[in-house]
Amino acid sequence: MEQLMLQGNRFSLTIQRKAVKHLILRLKSDSELTVSAPYFCSRRDIDQFILSREAWIIQRAQRLRHQRQVQQLSAVGQTVTIYGKARRLETDGTLKRSRMDAERLILAVKSQDAAALQQAFDRFARQSLQQEVQRLRPRWDDVLMKAGLPLPVFRFRRMSSRWGSCVVNRQKITLNLKLIHYPSGCLDAVLWHEYAHFLVQDHSARFYALIHEAMPDYAARKALLDGKM
Ligand SMILES: [Zn+2]
Repeated sequence: MEQLMLQGNRFSLTIQRKAVKHLILRLKSDSELTVSAPYFCSRRDIDQFILSREAWIIQRAQRLRHQRQVQQLSAVGQTVTIYGKARRLETDGTLKRSRMDAERLILAVKSQDAAALQQAFDRFARQSLQQEVQRLRPRWDDVLMKAGLPLPVFRFRRMSSRWGSCVVNRQKITLNLKLIHYPSGCLDAVLWHEYAHFLVQDHSARFYALIHEAMPDYAARKALLDGKM
């Protein structure tokens, strides 16, 4: 595999020849670059294309790196970020339920292999987020009740490309389990975003006016989630 250095950052480069019309550049991770190129495109054109997108690549890689660092569940004895605060990860096979204090997250699990840790962590995250949502939702429930709308039910899932989603006609909101890694103000922003869709379905100016009216710092909270800060 080819290696590439951009502003001191090392990337592996994969070039795929395809029946595409234009050069397409993708970052699979913070260090893996893939270019889809038309069959007729010269290597020099490809290199020039990469250089012309250098600033974007670096910015995108930094964002992905930040997300990976915040969201990773490393081995026991290391730290995991919960609601924006780093905590030491421990396990205790005698516990019935995982628990957390100011310094530690203690997962109720005997085995310490990665899959078992992840499963125990997701169970903890689901319970904890459920409690947080109960604490945060009255304010947004009020908005729906005043509009004469029914209240939503929640589901929590590990998702890769979205923080939340909703099915408007079924009053269903799905939240990403990864929200547990960020300050709860970020969870509140995603919550309000999904609630607001019950009033305005699209992402129009009217939608964002509604969002910002009730949460003036919405953009800053969202930026934190997207790794822009
Ligand atoms: Zn939306």
